[in-house]
Amino acid sequence: MSFNLDILLRDNIKNMEPYSSARDEFKGDATVFMDANENSFGSPISGNYNRYPDPLQLRLKEKLTKIKGVPESNIFLGNGSDEPIDLLFRAFCKPGVDNVILVPPTYGMYEVSANINDVETRKVPLSVDFQLNLEGIADQLDRHTKLIFICSPNNPTGNSINPLDIETLLVNFSGIVVVDEAYINYSTQASFTHQLVEFPNLVVLQTLSKAWGLAALRLGLAFASRDIIAVLNKIKPPYNINQATQEIVLAALDNVEQVNEWIKVTVHERRRLVERLSTSPGVLDIVPSDANFVLVRFERARQLYNHLVDRGIIVRDRSTVSGCENGLRLTVGTPSENDFLLKEIQTFYS
Ligand SMILES: *Cc1c(COP(=O)(O)O)cnc(C)c1O
Repeated sequence: MSFNLDILLRDNIKNMEPYSSARDEFKGDATVFMDANENSFGSPISGNYNRYPDPLQLRLKEKLTKIKGVPESNIFLGNGSDEPIDLLFRAFCKPGVDNVILVPPTYGMYEVSANINDVETRKVPLSVDFQLNLEGIADQLDRHTKLIFICSPNNPTGNSINPLDIETLLVNFSGIVVVDEAYINYSTQASFTHQLVEFPNLVVLQTLSKAWGLAALRLGLAFASRDIIAVLNKIKPPYNINQATQEIVLAALDNVEQVNEWIKVTVHERRRLVERLSTSPGVLDIVPSDANFVLVRFERARQLYNHLVDRGIIVRDRSTVSGCENGLRLTVGTPSENDFLLKEIQTFYS
C-alpha cells in the first residue's frame, strides 16, 4: 500500500507557519546577544542558564547518532516519550474524526494521549500469548485510521512482538506504525531503527528513562524518515529540551559501558527471578520477558501485593487489567533487592 505523508498530515499542520525563535533566525557566534530578551547579566547559579537552549539539540543528536547508528536528520528528541506520542496525534489525527489502533494490554499513555486529543481508539486485544491479532487489526482499519501503536517488548507483559507481524503491518497499512522500544536494550531482538529506509511509515520510540537510568531528566527519542521528523520539529514547543537536560545527558552518554554492565546484570537477574519463581508455590504462570520486568500470575495476587507493601516492597498490581488477571508486574531490582522479594514471596505462600 502506498504511503503519502502529505495526504496523511492534517491540513492545519501542513499549512501553518512554525514559530520562529531568535535562535532560529540567527545561528552562529557573536559577542553580544540582544535578540532574545534574555537576562544579559547571567543566571543566579553557575552555568549559562540565562540563555535559551539549542532548539534542535544538535550536539546531543551528534552523540546519539554514533550510539544508535541513525543519522541526525532521522532523530527527534522529546520531553520524555510522552511528547512524541502526543505530537503524532496532533500532526496526524483530526479530533472527533480520525482513529488509532491500540493492542491491549499495553502501555497506558497511548490511550491517554488519544483521549486528550479527542481521537477514537479501536482496541484489538493481543492473543493469549500476547501477540498481534493481524486479522482483527485489518477488520478495524478504515480511511480514518492514522496510527497503530505497537509496544515491543510490550509493557506490562514483557514479551517481544513478532517482528514479522510488525513488518506485515508496515507493508500493508497506509498510516503510521509506531513501534515503542522503551525496553529494547534488554532484548535480543533487533531494533526497528535499522529499517527506517525500508519503511517510510515507521516511527520508532526509545527513551533514556529505563536502561539509561535517566528517567528524571525526561528524554525521549523518536526515529523516523526525515519528512516525519521535520513534521515533529515543526510543531514541537521551540525549546522542548531544557539546557540542564541537554548538558547532563551529553555527559551521561559517555558512560555507555556502565549502562551496558547494568543491562547485563539486569538480564541475568531477570533469568534468576524467573527460574526461582517457576518452582515457587503460589506462582501460576510467568510471561517470557525481554524487558527489565516480569509479569507473573500469582494465587491471591492482591493479597500478595498487600503483603509486599507491608514489607516495604512495591510492585505493580496489574491483576485488574484485562488479559493480565492475577498478574503482578515485578521490576528487576539489584541482586539483594531481588533476594528480598523472593524471600517475601516465599514467606507469603508458606
Ligand atoms: C517507561 C515507558 C516509556 C518511557 O516514557 P518516558 O516518557 O520516556 O519516560 C515509554 N514507553 C513505554 C512502553 C514505557 O513503558
